[in-house]
Amino acid sequence: MAGERIAVITGASSGIGAASARQLARAGFHVVAGARRTDRLQALAEEVGATTLALDVTDPASVTAFAAAVRDRHGQADLLVNNAGTGVGLDPVAEGRDDDWQATMDTNVVGLLRVTRTFLPLLRAAPHAHIVNLGSIAGFEVYPGGAGYTASKHAVRAITDTLRLELNGEPIRITEIAPGMVETEFSVIRFRGDTTKADDVYAGVQPLTADDIADCITWAVTRPPHVDIDFMVVRPVAQAASYKVARNRS
Ligand code: NAP
Repeated sequence: MAGERIAVITGASSGIGAASARQLARAGFHVVAGARRTDRLQALAEEVGATTLALDVTDPASVTAFAAAVRDRHGQADLLVNNAGTGVGLDPVAEGRDDDWQATMDTNVVGLLRVTRTFLPLLRAAPHAHIVNLGSIAGFEVYPGGAGYTASKHAVRAITDTLRLELNGEPIRITEIAPGMVETEFSVIRFRGDTTKADDVYAGVQPLTADDIADCITWAVTRPPHVDIDFMVVRPVAQAASYKVARNRS
């Protein structure tokens, strides 16, 4: 539809990305949803009328094809939500695996940089645009076993602030949302499919939901175009730090 604002979301097949697709569609955006699991995206397309496209942020050809499809269909992107992310493994550095570190860095750091670079011409084609990066409290806190993931999210902090300097003078806002504990498939992936260990992460505590974070994203991107929400930290009330969570074990 002419005049419709285009929201591109990476990693929209589950968790925060899928919730954001639903809420941004309700807020009036036309959503372009990308992820590797296109079957999951199909359900979203039927639900909110999103455009769905295969995307692997670690694959340069996939990112190029994804952006080309957005350019051909819409000519611009008004909003880019860099949400795709992972954090495989929770081993101390002494036992860390190269594959886990590589997957985490390739997705959370190089993937986010690659997608951003590829979409900048489309964001610049919009009258005003917005980039939202999914950081984490792991972007400024650390915990044992988290070196690979916390390093990647510290990098997202640095990338967000660098982009703010580089894009200064252009009508492109940049926001980093840094959630604490959110109950999604994230922990299942972290524990390599072990759902018992993943469930333990949320035992005796009320975590944030994907919708809580989607709500923050939707709020930040629906402020007037001259208002930039730089950095938003959102935690469950029971989580004082990544490693300090008040649990009700009764
Ligand atoms: P999730 O449910 O596991 O969702 C991750 C999403 O990223 C999935 O849609 C996945 O889709 C996508 N993804 C992973 N690798 C990808 C790749 N190579 N190319 C394209 N998409 C890829 O986890 P979530 O909690 O919603 O995580 C979303 C973001 O929030 C991440 O950046 C995460 O670091 C951040 N975060 C999460 C928490 C938390 O406690 N859950 C806290 C702070 C920050 P496919 O597998 O289908 O490709």
